[in-house]
Amino acid sequence: MRTEDVTPLYRRVVFTSDSFDEGFPIRHFAVSDHVKLFFPHPQTGVLVFPQITENGWEYPDGAGDPFFRDYTVRDYDADARELAIDFVLHDHGVAGRWAGRARPGDEIGQLGPRGHVVFPSDYPRYLAAGDATALPAIARLLEEAPEGSRVTAVIEVESAAEQQRLDVAPGVDADIVWVRRDEAVIADGHLSALETAVRDVAIAPGERLFVFVAGEAGMLKPIRRYLRRELGLTKEQVDVDGYWKRGVANLDHHADADDADD
Ligand SMILES: Cc1cc2nc3c(=O)[nH]c(=O)nc-3n(C[C@H](O)[C@H](O)[C@H](O)COP(=O)(O)OP(=O)(O)OC[C@H]3O[C@@H](n4cnc5c(N)ncnc54)[C@H](O)[C@@H]3O)c2cc1C
Repeated sequence: MRTEDVTPLYRRVVFTSDSFDEGFPIRHFAVSDHVKLFFPHPQTGVLVFPQITENGWEYPDGAGDPFFRDYTVRDYDADARELAIDFVLHDHGVAGRWAGRARPGDEIGQLGPRGHVVFPSDYPRYLAAGDATALPAIARLLEEAPEGSRVTAVIEVESAAEQQRLDVAPGVDADIVWVRRDEAVIADGHLSALETAVRDVAIAPGERLFVFVAGEAGMLKPIRRYLRRELGLTKEQVDVDGYWKRGVANLDHHADADDADD
């Protein structure tokens, strides 16, 4: 395992594992695919990892609580057998703290991805928006978007120091908008600077567009309503996923889905 500081608050951790001898399932344009990472107990340092049995996950008696969180598959290098995960560094939770202190040789557990959500590749235009937790998925979308398509990426970060260089697939016309939280404007009636910036993206009536939005769950609700109710995009055109929720540990992003206006 090795680490690379991409920005002051964003760290890439590159993992090796004997299990990668059997390969690792990374799919093209399944940009939101994610793994479950298991972290050592913050006090005891004990890593509790399940056995996978026909009854599901089973833990040894007395193993204690497992600490697992979802993280996007940023990259997998099949030749080097290395899995790259990009962590937002923060001091509020087990995973954020682990990443901030990670050193070569540290060990964690990994399961998944459980399945693949391959985005449709027949749209002429993609809009990808979110906060720093969504940046690994947005970066993959920019790198893997279909040739000839147009991608607008709207990314909310703490400050200019958090902007990073993003690669774009050949033949893709990309427009990357950085929303810097320390200076960005939140328009009247909007919940976040991300919402204001997403609403600022010019979209023609009836335009064929696929939209991916992820980040703090509360911040996403008005954006989802804007896309579905105001722009009239269909359920198939919109993938909005709460990746974390202020004040909630280990958010279950499936349980938190806001399907109210489907
Ligand atoms: C499908 C999916 C993919 C994801 N991919 C990534 C990824 O590639 N990189 C990444 O960094 N995150 C990613 N996340 C988000 C990550 O799983 C959460 O941020 C997770 O809560 C972090 O765990 P934690 O132990 O640090 O905090 P938790 O123990 O879960 O939460 C403790 C406290 O920290 C707060 N908190 C959680 N996350 C953050 C944050 N990012 N910033 C500030 N406060 C926070 C919570 O609101 C809570 O109050 C993804 C989530 C999902 C569902």
